[in-house]
Amino acid sequence: MASVFDLSERTDGSLDAEEEQRSFPVEHRVDQPRIEFAVREILAAIGEDPDREGLRDTPARVARMYAELFGGLHEDPRRHLSKSFSETCDEVVLVRDISFNSMCEHHLLPFMGKAHVAYLPGDRVIGLSKLARVVEAVARRPQVQERMTEEIANLLVEELSAKGVAVVIEAVHTCMTIRGVRKPGSLCVTSAMKGCFRTKASTRAELMTLIYGDRR
Ligand SMILES: [Zn+2]
Repeated sequence: MASVFDLSERTDGSLDAEEEQRSFPVEHRVDQPRIEFAVREILAAIGEDPDREGLRDTPARVARMYAELFGGLHEDPRRHLSKSFSETCDEVVLVRDISFNSMCEHHLLPFMGKAHVAYLPGDRVIGLSKLARVVEAVARRPQVQERMTEEIANLLVEELSAKGVAVVIEAVHTCMTIRGVRKPGSLCVTSAMKGCFRTKASTRAELMTLIYGDRR
């Protein structure tokens, strides 16, 4: 029997304060004064007055926000995968609906959605929340969805010695919904299939049923 874990209700609320601190311990490595200076320049460049009351704290606020949104750049996602457990499990493990937000590196506009991460264990399993942590670390940097999908899959392949790894990501790109072609409602779906998920159609089909089965 395959195991499915639905994190849609949990990923945002499940961090305690100490974990939260450990998740983003590197914000100080982002040069916030430099961002402040640059944002002030942007405000002036669009014809705004950076010194008017409503905008006075904006550069500092944006600097703190970027430090948070790009904090993953200074974090090695592998650290979440260093602790695995010996376990006999010959079935697909799927953590579904891992919510994430990231920044499109072409426009620095957010894209957000859900990641579904699955693996077929070798003789090691990993704590389920660690899969969500890896998604988080890889998302918090300038990204493109296609690369993000591959990166997560490759990390798991390298660190878990799994028989197979599958990552499916669905996201809404605000650079497509609020500007450019302006197509609200469009969803970008990417997948990376490794090992048995690539070579065995039945394993891949089982995965798709686990992800989408009850929503069709
Ligand atoms: Zn974009």
